[in-house]
Amino acid sequence: MQWTRSETLALAQQSCTYCHGLGLRPGRGGASTPCNCVFRAIFRACYARFRQCASKEKYVSRVSLEANPGRQRKSVWGLKNEEYIADFCLVSQRTLSEREYKIFKYHFLLGADWKLCCRKLKMDRGSFFHDVYRIEQRLGKTFRELEPYGLFPLDEYFGSTGKEKVVGALMPFPIESDDERKTRTILKFPLKEAA
Ligand SMILES: [Zn+2]
Repeated sequence: MQWTRSETLALAQQSCTYCHGLGLRPGRGGASTPCNCVFRAIFRACYARFRQCASKEKYVSRVSLEANPGRQRKSVWGLKNEEYIADFCLVSQRTLSEREYKIFKYHFLLGADWKLCCRKLKMDRGSFFHDVYRIEQRLGKTFRELEPYGLFPLDEYFGSTGKEKVVGALMPFPIESDDERKTRTILKFPLKEAA
């Protein structure tokens, strides 16, 4: 996949000492690669969305599937949140090493702070944060570069995808013939007179 300068620039951390807020670093063979601060920004955006989905998941499912059983679009939207939660967890587990995933699970999925994580995993504060940084970078890169659909950008994940197209194709949609269109009565609603 291709990274553009405008994308990395928008995501880069202004105070980053490696890229100075540009989001790009010189890579192998003179080609620029995205800076780690860009990957961390992507991970944090995905993680924020994950938490948001996880906190409202039950509520959304209930509303969309029970109160509105006939509304295709609403139920698709409800399932999308659940799909994102599942993707976030599965992709992370697949990307990280066993040891990294353990830290990820305690800190990001179960919400344990650094003190609890260090005690549980028998680590010191420095190596804990070093590992957390590396985890954020690896996952941010994977979330963005994943084929065919990444978890980032979020609006693409939630807005697009083939799923809605499939739903649309399966809907029995009556197609009007030319004759039917000509003879169709146009409904005229009484217009309110302007005062
Ligand atoms: Zn940077």
